[in-house]
Amino acid sequence: METNEVVGEVSLCKVCGERTEREIDFPIMDGKGGTRKMKVHCMCRCERERKEAEDRRLAYEEEQRQIDNLKQLSLIDAKSRNVRFSTYQVNEENAKVFGIAKRYVENFPEMYSQNQGMLFWGDVGTGKSYTAAAIANELMERLHPVIMTSFVKLLQDMQGFDNDDGAYMNRLNRAKLLIIDDLGAERGTDFALEKVYDIIDSRYRSGKPAIFTTNLTMGQMKECTDIRYNRIYDRIFEMCYPVKFSGLSWRKREAAGRYASMKKILEG
Ligand SMILES: [Zn+2]
Repeated sequence: METNEVVGEVSLCKVCGERTEREIDFPIMDGKGGTRKMKVHCMCRCERERKEAEDRRLAYEEEQRQIDNLKQLSLIDAKSRNVRFSTYQVNEENAKVFGIAKRYVENFPEMYSQNQGMLFWGDVGTGKSYTAAAIANELMERLHPVIMTSFVKLLQDMQGFDNDDGAYMNRLNRAKLLIIDDLGAERGTDFALEKVYDIIDSRYRSGKPAIFTTNLTMGQMKECTDIRYNRIYDRIFEMCYPVKFSGLSWRKREAAGRYASMKKILEG
């Protein structure tokens, strides 16, 4: 705390030199409009800056609380919670999908208003879930509510929700973006497929976007003749921009890297 020194009538701050007091004309209620001079405190630059920094800190903490809260509600896996664009290992094979993911987040208000989702399809281990998790977390950092789950988990959860599917779906549809990971991994019973369709259709009718990831090929989805699956895929194609993930799976890439380094050690 700086000390004030009195210069003439009002005190000045020793640090910034600005006034810490100003004089006002205070009415003395004498019936004649008389006033007397009074000194009141005013903020010097140091004090204004301290207050602004404190306000910024409080706003930042409030924002972090909201982000934590969104992440709690997002159902996102613990292992996916810290996936961000900054943790993404960009290489030749995923540079294109990385660019798409970044532009989706940058343009999210427009994507949202146009109910525009995406379908990430391609081989196992090509980064579909990782990319979807990065989008989820980047959007939550911008305070958009996102839910990321899978039909396998949703179908389990719904069984414990008093059979009130409507309430459950309303909860899902409150999220501005719904991400369903690993479409096609759920059981293919009539009951499960009915629920899957209901969830997708309810999302469609809510007018909000969804992102799906799947190991199914475009051919498997487009040429499917089973009507129970057909109507699911038709809805998805209607809502989603298809994005193909290709390249070596991370597991294969790791194995190839290990082979190369072992070869060097063992064969010299
Ligand atoms: Zn000052």
